[in-house]
Amino acid sequence: MPRSQSTSERSTSSQQTNPSRWQGAGWPAFVSSLKDVAVIEDAPMRGTFATDAGGTSYGMPHGVVIARSAAQISALLKAAQAHRVPVTVRGGGLTTEGESVAFGGVLLDMTGMSKCLFIDPQKLEVRVEAGIFWASLAEHLRRQGMDYLSAPLNLTSSVGGTLGVGGIDVNSARFGCSADQALALQVVTPTGEIVECSDEANPELFRRVILGYGQFGVITEATLRIRRYTPIRMRYYYYASLRTAIEDLQMLDREQAADYTGILTMMDAAINLLVAFDSGEREAAFDAKWHSRVRGMGEAAFSARAFLSYLVRPWRWGEALFLRDRKRQLFPEFRRPEHTRDGKMEDRSVVFSRAVWKFWGGRQMVIPDLATSSAKFAEAVERGNAVCKRFFPRYTLYCVGIRLREEHRPHYEMSCIPPDAAGWAYGCEFEPMIGDGTWSRDHLQSFKNAIYDIGVEMGASYYRFGGMMKGYVRRVFGDPLVDRHLAMKRAADPAMILNRDVIF
Ligand SMILES: Cc1cc2nc3c(=O)[nH]c(=O)nc-3n(C[C@H](O)[C@H](O)[C@H](O)COP(=O)(O)OP(=O)(O)OC[C@H]3O[C@@H](n4cnc5c(N)ncnc54)[C@H](O)[C@@H]3O)c2cc1C
Repeated sequence: MPRSQSTSERSTSSQQTNPSRWQGAGWPAFVSSLKDVAVIEDAPMRGTFATDAGGTSYGMPHGVVIARSAAQISALLKAAQAHRVPVTVRGGGLTTEGESVAFGGVLLDMTGMSKCLFIDPQKLEVRVEAGIFWASLAEHLRRQGMDYLSAPLNLTSSVGGTLGVGGIDVNSARFGCSADQALALQVVTPTGEIVECSDEANPELFRRVILGYGQFGVITEATLRIRRYTPIRMRYYYYASLRTAIEDLQMLDREQAADYTGILTMMDAAINLLVAFDSGEREAAFDAKWHSRVRGMGEAAFSARAFLSYLVRPWRWGEALFLRDRKRQLFPEFRRPEHTRDGKMEDRSVVFSRAVWKFWGGRQMVIPDLATSSAKFAEAVERGNAVCKRFFPRYTLYCVGIRLREEHRPHYEMSCIPPDAAGWAYGCEFEPMIGDGTWSRDHLQSFKNAIYDIGVEMGASYYRFGGMMKGYVRRVFGDPLVDRHLAMKRAADPAMILNRDVIF
């Protein structure tokens, strides 16, 4: 049951709601102008897309278009400009703030374009249609002994949707975010031009589209860097202090001591630094040089310490039992025999995705986050942790580093990468364990606001700054920057039809 909110929580939170619905002016004329584009208008199909993974934002498109080709999307966007009909693009729909929900107009379902077009193992490149899910791409690649570089730990996120928002993996501290592996894109601009872009060709558009939250074009194809596939060797260190775990995480990232790093917690009671390697040689080098500098404990030592600590605190035995039960259910999931061979994890995205949905997923999911420079990160996580404690009895923190691109390949400035980050940026997701519980929308929004307020105070950024959280866009990026981008958006999208309610 949700606890009642204090007056101060209620009064300080400005409750963002869904954008107003587009009322459908000119819809029939728009649909009849689309000769070669099928628009599905029946209610059950439209209802399929009524919400996103967050389950708190609901909208209904007037019609659904299944993406088939860049030419078809071009025709759709040209007609949408002429008739001023909003078009919302959707890949896997794994947003949590309604950024892939259509509040009227067209819902463009990109999963209709999900082919792997070619794999070049010599050049270490793959070309895909943008609606392909990462898990499906992994299947194609592994038949040839290849792998993607980094992708969300989630089976049903698409390449296009991920390149638009970032994409963080437990190896992002080495390889950067998923968007960094994009070498070239085919984009349909909001006015319907089909453009190939990269750092060399149309670089302005390229930089605006990756990390640009779908404002400046629909990504229809992507060329991505790939690498040889390796199963991974995982190990875990346990901490009772968030700050110590974060310092160790950042030390390992700075030294490139491991191939995969991240922190996953059960509240702030059991803090787990995961470290993993692509090869026995990398693991041996870690053991020789870094293992002794990591201050985390092994599982047995941490369990014994926790047992003693809870023994003298009977008022916390409920938490102790929760941790014990959670550990018993969760840990075998990471060591399932069908995903383990010779002590190595065969497919991290499958393993993590299963665990995420099984242990953190639910009808409603709120995952507010903070993205900061390395120096600000520990404070941001500690402050966010205090907010979690105020709002929910059970929650998880997930922290990971992102290696930044070199100076001459700058990120799109209005993105999840904070402006003062150098070398690495760090992100933390604050995820209450809602499960089958029911929390009021007001409570969930107050919680997100309290986390995002920290970001404003600290000069941070967010992975999910659009949709229901877009009230923070101006507060965190400032008016001059937002106005500049709004002007660019207006120039690129005169009728403001593409993903119109996501950012501006
Ligand atoms: C349980 C859970 C776990 C998650 N774990 C991770 C994680 O480990 N790492 C991580 O980085 N993220 C994670 N996320 C966030 C989510 O995975 C990312 O937002 C995701 O990669 C988005 O992909 P998608 O295909 O679902 O995009 P969507 O949600 O469909 O779309 C995202 C945005 O991009 C736009 N868009 C979609 N496709 C296109 C396109 N082709 N062209 C232009 N714009 C487009 C949409 O309009 C929307 O604004 C998680 C989310 C959930 C719910």
